[in-house]
Amino acid sequence: MACFPDFVGSDALRERIGDAVRRNRLSHAYLIEGPEGSGKRTFARMIAAAVSCEKREDENADLPCGECPACKKILSDRSTDVHYLDRGDRATVSVDAIRDLRREMALSPTELDVRTFIIDDADAMTPAAQNALLISLEEPPAGVLILLLASSSDGLLPTVRSRVQTLRLEPVPPDKERAYLLRTSPEAKKLDGEGAGKLDAVISASHGRIGVALAYLTPKREAALQKTRETVDGVIRAAATGASYAEVLRAISSLPTKRTELTSCLVPLIEASRDLIVLKRMPDAPLLFYVDRQAALALAERADLSRLVKIYDAITDAADAVASNGNVQTVLTSLAVAVRGRN
Ligand SMILES: [Zn+2]
Repeated sequence: MACFPDFVGSDALRERIGDAVRRNRLSHAYLIEGPEGSGKRTFARMIAAAVSCEKREDENADLPCGECPACKKILSDRSTDVHYLDRGDRATVSVDAIRDLRREMALSPTELDVRTFIIDDADAMTPAAQNALLISLEEPPAGVLILLLASSSDGLLPTVRSRVQTLRLEPVPPDKERAYLLRTSPEAKKLDGEGAGKLDAVISASHGRIGVALAYLTPKREAALQKTRETVDGVIRAAATGASYAEVLRAISSLPTKRTELTSCLVPLIEASRDLIVLKRMPDAPLLFYVDRQAALALAERADLSRLVKIYDAITDAADAVASNGNVQTVLTSLAVAVRGRN
């Protein structure tokens, strides 16, 4: 039967870990790597359940089965043998927090054979905290499983990285994400009923991260997302169709002028211009921004490739300038000039 059936995507990884659990060959420490909203915590909780699942050796049962007392407790976050640590409101995970955790590791299990220690934001551990964790990673107490969760392993010391196996979560393919959202989220179902590609826009903006899609599924966030998409579409449309300088400038001036908000618009702008370039050569290529392929194809047809490349370069330059603290107004004016020219 299936390994981690309720986790969507990362099929090979699920199979590998499920197999290791069933054969009792799980390592004592893993790093689960994936961007925000990619399901690191969910996957960690499922591994904790799998190692304690009463049916873990039964090839005919799902793993975790989700029904035995251990599964039920762990999957609903009620087990005293699964410990979570994250940075909370702080910028880092401190050495004291890791020392406390280490003391906890030395105690005996209360309910289960395996106690799981999940360190979220592991890349936010200070170097001292990471060094304090090293001895536990090298010689963990018996019956202890350590799961580090991080967006990227870059913030981890090589000594830590070399003592854990890395499990990289993959983005969920759009069709699987869509099916999952429709199955589990009433908001997704409602949005899908409203049509106009609204649910697809949420899926597109989540880039294969279900946690991000779920966060967009509140009416307020969804409306903000639609507004961003309309703004982005307006800018690209004006630039690609050869509108006048004044029109391009007007479209660009509807972009937010707050640096963080502008940054979150520049990413979809880059993706939209990339989509049009790719569509010129491969009409069936996967798209990053557009959800209506026909509309995107029609738009791509109206611009020649050199203009699209010019737009793409101008937007990436603008993103660079905003990231390196350039004056936002100047950046936006330069963007208009770069995509259109003043005359
Ligand atoms: Zn179970």
